[in-house]
Amino acid sequence: MTCPRVEIDLDKIEENARALVTLLSGRGIDVTGVTKATLGSPEVAKAMIAGGVVRLGDSRLENLEILRAAGIQAPLTLLRSPTPDQADRAVACASISQVSEIEVVKALSAAAGRLGGSHGVVLMVELGDLREGVLPGDVLDLARHMSRTPHIMLAGLGTNLACRAGVVPSTDNMGELSALVSRLEVELDLHLPIVSGGNSANLQWAIAAPAGRVNDLRLGESILLGCDPLTRKPLHGLHTDAFSLVVPVIESLAKPTAPRGDTGEAAFGVPTPMHERGTIVQTIVSIGRQDVDPEGLTPPLGVSVLAASSDHLVLETQNRLAPGEEIRFGLDYSALLRVMTSPFVVTSFTTTKRHPPSLSPPPSPFLPPVIPPVVNPTPAIP
Ligand SMILES: *Cc1c(COP(=O)(O)O)cnc(C)c1O
Repeated sequence: MTCPRVEIDLDKIEENARALVTLLSGRGIDVTGVTKATLGSPEVAKAMIAGGVVRLGDSRLENLEILRAAGIQAPLTLLRSPTPDQADRAVACASISQVSEIEVVKALSAAAGRLGGSHGVVLMVELGDLREGVLPGDVLDLARHMSRTPHIMLAGLGTNLACRAGVVPSTDNMGELSALVSRLEVELDLHLPIVSGGNSANLQWAIAAPAGRVNDLRLGESILLGCDPLTRKPLHGLHTDAFSLVVPVIESLAKPTAPRGDTGEAAFGVPTPMHERGTIVQTIVSIGRQDVDPEGLTPPLGVSVLAASSDHLVLETQNRLAPGEEIRFGLDYSALLRVMTSPFVVTSFTTTKRHPPSLSPPPSPFLPPVIPPVVNPTPAIP
């Protein structure tokens, strides 16, 4: 294949999902599997479901529609509030939307009425990270209003931390969420079945502290990449290499290390200083900033990333490589998002079970760290 491709090992995703589902079920927490980094890939969604997630979530309607069109039956949550004019589509494909504006709930109510059904809403509460959600002091009034809106089922409260300001989920903020839930239930005389405490950044909290009323976490990055977004460290026992990016070489030539001529800004601002250290093998692979965040790539041993422009990723390799030869990279979340979104990167799935299930019990998380994947050393051109 001559274009860059992302290889996705669905078994590793399933095993990661199962490990997290098992861990959290011991704490009374269900897992919503978040598919947005894969643009709502039905294959990835099915792997998450096989691993035991109770529902799927995505921030984009388009992705949820893809899941529904692929015949996925699991309940779907729209994680980012729809706009009022998207209400019909939201109601048609999702069972729950996470919301924070009464105008949006009114639009969802009207849409659900037109479809002759009802729609669940999870009211998002702002607990310090300053992204979406209403202030705690406004929760009671809004929840009362929503619970009395026709065709709307107030399904619960949710919050999201560690995305904008990096605020860490803690006993304090999670306790505040639990207390709000209990207070609402008393004051409004209703039961809130879903208390969604956050995303993958909540895992350390969930392992260390009692969950209180929190009974759902929305997990994307931890299932897909096996790492903790607060530290970007691998979660023990999870696979960190379910995704890899394979890119063909287009040029591999001996070149000097320092530029020649007067320099101004490069295509993406001031280039990192290049000091003369003699001649090296400079290898270019056919991918660029349009398709990937170069900072988020882990090259194979013996290969380093020197620079990236729109369409060229410039590497240093130990030997010259033949054009067409492939180099395999690991990806972080930012790189994954961009490669999945680029129309120039194809996706391929690995589904071969590496071990018969009867012989390999699912990995239990948070055991000794997994050894990082062995990466392909780059072979020399004869
Ligand atoms: C993306 C997203 C998630 C999942 O976050 P991860 O860090 O990938 O687990 C959860 N909730 C909301 C609202 C999101 O937008």
